[in-house]
Amino acid sequence: MKPEDISCPLPIGEHDTVQLSHGSGGRMTQDLVSRLFLWAFDNHHLNRRDDAALLDVARGKLAFSTDTFVVDPIFFPGGSIGDLAVNGTVNDLCCHGGIPRYLSAGFVLEEGLLLTELKSVVVAMKRAAEAARVSIVCGDTKVVNRGKGDKIFVNTSGLATIEHPYRIGADQLRPGDRILINGTIGDHGVAILSCRQGLSFQTPIESDTAPLCDLVQAVLSQVGEGLHAMRDATRGGVAATLNELAASSDVGIQLQSDALPVAPAVRGACELLGLDPLYVANEGKMLFVVTPEVAAIALNALRAHPQGVNAAIIGEVVAESSGMVSVRMPLGTSRIVDMPVGEQLPRIC
Ligand code: MG
Repeated sequence: MKPEDISCPLPIGEHDTVQLSHGSGGRMTQDLVSRLFLWAFDNHHLNRRDDAALLDVARGKLAFSTDTFVVDPIFFPGGSIGDLAVNGTVNDLCCHGGIPRYLSAGFVLEEGLLLTELKSVVVAMKRAAEAARVSIVCGDTKVVNRGKGDKIFVNTSGLATIEHPYRIGADQLRPGDRILINGTIGDHGVAILSCRQGLSFQTPIESDTAPLCDLVQAVLSQVGEGLHAMRDATRGGVAATLNELAASSDVGIQLQSDALPVAPAVRGACELLGLDPLYVANEGKMLFVVTPEVAAIALNALRAHPQGVNAAIIGEVVAESSGMVSVRMPLGTSRIVDMPVGEQLPRIC
């Protein structure tokens, strides 16, 4: 997206880059807040400009989550740090079946960042928030000296309302449960890495960043208490996420290698870069753990949604090998899918 795609009162004063005084709390901060952030995120909570947003809450439970985004580069095929900052927290809020309602947005800006780039990030956040039907109701901006940051870091925290009576959580996996995913794996990580390394492929590889709240509600409404757990397979990929679930529930997980959906371009890029797609980050993929009785219903619900056309049942929960994930290869052999050690791809989100 180009900054000029959307009309906004920027530029601010005579500057075209972020100045230290944009973080001073004085007139330039006020200008930045009102001309960019209030304009983009426009809602009555934020517009009151109080020190804290006052939110109406229903009875029942709230889900609360936070995440900080430092992705490099800040613009990449399929999205930007702005999309990630909204979608990432929205998707974490979805993991208990919550309906995301409110987000905060905290910005750390490096002196010298082009205001047009900041505007593009903020407009991406505005659009992502609209798509997920969340309001950005409070925020903060700080500016650090040139060289002391890297363009822009964004933190988002979020609240979701839980409006279902089910127990959905990482400790709810039971032997026999089926593992589903809503589409191809590794797209985000490969998109970032190829962008960083200046690689181009015949089929362009784009990040899968997307808000999954509607997809989650579509599955939940179909399978109800048959849905035991969900987790978005971000950093560390499907491998890390399933290891976390297996450990939390004291069960084993067995994947079927030929059931794992991988886009041909991503598979090719992974071979070239020496990566295993199971370990590569996703930003629009949710793992669903459901009882065997509702697995086909869940799969149909996923495939009926635009974000789930390539959904698949990729494995099942087993009683043996507690805390371990393994993958069965087409010839019948099996290999362990360990928890990744260290950072495979730094600053991927
Ligand atoms: Mg997560």
